[in-house]
Amino acid sequence: MNEPLQRLVALADTDRLIRLTEGRLSELHGEEAGLQARVAQLDQEMKARQESHRRLRAEALARMNEVDATDEKIRTYQRKLEQEILPYKEMEYLRDQVVLLKSRIDGLAEEALLLSDQVEQDAEKLKEDEAAFRQRRQALEEELQALLHHRAALAQEKEGLLAQRAAQAQLVPPHLLQQYERLRRTVGSPVVPVQGGACGGCHLRLAEATLTRVKEGREVVTCENCSRFLYWRAP
Ligand SMILES: [Zn+2]
Repeated sequence: MNEPLQRLVALADTDRLIRLTEGRLSELHGEEAGLQARVAQLDQEMKARQESHRRLRAEALARMNEVDATDEKIRTYQRKLEQEILPYKEMEYLRDQVVLLKSRIDGLAEEALLLSDQVEQDAEKLKEDEAAFRQRRQALEEELQALLHHRAALAQEKEGLLAQRAAQAQLVPPHLLQQYERLRRTVGSPVVPVQGGACGGCHLRLAEATLTRVKEGREVVTCENCSRFLYWRAP
């Protein structure tokens, strides 16, 4: 193989590695977004869990306050009935109220107790949920860190490959480099092997004379159809 062709092959190899690295980098980018989304979801679930506990606690407190307020009302009405001289209608009304409130207060107190038990149980469960949450979040964070580490290493690898490419490109004669870059933009793979008498890029059969020239390897030969650079690979 002649020297310019060797250099084109080397450049194409580096470009392939750069493409692979870029592909892997973009995959990692997607994986990172996925992990970030899972962390966000986990946080949101925990927030909702804490919020549901807070609501339960607020409900229990409200019921307890209701019991206290009812009790206070009963006392106030009774005091009024005992200590004040009231018009008959008001007295009647207050008595009815006392009976009504007394009939309600036991039920309310029972509910308040039940709710307060529920709050205690839920607080225990919340502690477990929070511990599990911290563990899962920690695992995700570690996964994320490992991924970022891997990505940084790959980015560095890519920098190295780009530097290598720049050095290799300088060694290719300018007119060949120009053609190479044009092919890279249009067809993606500028240097291909001959495969069974055909161009390894466009797969069209090559003229016998072209095949002979490629096989001899004394000059840089291109496909007459797609202009890709051709090299001979032992069948
Ligand atoms: Zn071709």
